[in-house]
Amino acid sequence: MEVTGDRDGLREACEAARAEGQTVGFVPTMGALHAGHRSLIARAREECGLVAVSIFVNPLQFGPSEDLASYPRDPDRDVALLERAGVDVAFTPSADEMYPSGRPEVTVDPGPIGERLEGGSRPGHFRGVCTVVAKLFGLVGPSRAYFGEKDAQQLAVVRRMVTDLDLPVEVVPCPTARERDGLAVSSRNARLSPDERQAAPCLYESLARAAWLVEGGERDVGVLKAEMAKRVGMEPLARLDYVAVVDEDTFEEVDRLRGRSRALIAAHIGSTRLIDNVPLRPGGVSENPPRD
Ligand code: AMP
Repeated sequence: MEVTGDRDGLREACEAARAEGQTVGFVPTMGALHAGHRSLIARAREECGLVAVSIFVNPLQFGPSEDLASYPRDPDRDVALLERAGVDVAFTPSADEMYPSGRPEVTVDPGPIGERLEGGSRPGHFRGVCTVVAKLFGLVGPSRAYFGEKDAQQLAVVRRMVTDLDLPVEVVPCPTARERDGLAVSSRNARLSPDERQAAPCLYESLARAAWLVEGGERDVGVLKAEMAKRVGMEPLARLDYVAVVDEDTFEEVDRLRGRSRALIAAHIGSTRLIDNVPLRPGGVSENPPRD
């Protein structure tokens, strides 16, 4: 595996693979790698000739009072994990390498999807995400880029950016990896105390309850949201940020369930902010739909 912190090094490695006719697959991450990241990499490994993974905690997507400084970092362990996962190129740039002139003057406007929900709670977050993803796409030139449904709104924003800006890459969505008790695997889970870790599955339980109600015929989103909030409200260590039900494609909130939709939740468990979501399929819920 080639490990480089250098933009030119990354660009050259990917160009060489393309010149040999290989498909380039790309998995952008912020490191502190876990089973969720591994599942994206495994899918890329199956489908692509060269697999590139970036590890970069992108300052642009963190607000001033967010956890940029304390975001979990473990570069040596991450590089060893990427090696074992059969990755070809690991890109581990510094912030100066990515932003040599400081904050970029030209950034990518994520549009209305980027203002709602996570964008409302974290102003500027999706502008930071879109800007770094566009830069990374420019360096890697991937045919396929792999994103987790765990961050469903990020996936929707990136898809929209790729469509609206005609970027020549296929965005591949990958299902959420979960712990045995349903908690979505996340780098931030490492910061939970034992008591908080016990409380954290309340996010998934509230989503699972919504999915169960939908399977039973419930279509009123007001009822679904009240039930979700109730489950989190029973947990003394949890503080709800939002619950929402959106149309899967437009990511607009809906009042009644008609087509493919998604239930979303964000909550603080102690001082750690967690997010999760599940698909809602009127007529049947499938967390891990078969690949097409
Ligand atoms: P992050 O390092 O948190 O920025 O995540 C990098 C990529 O991994 C993003 O596309 C995430 O959506 C994805 N990811 C994070 N957690 C999970 C998970 N539990 N299951 C599947 N994908 C995930």
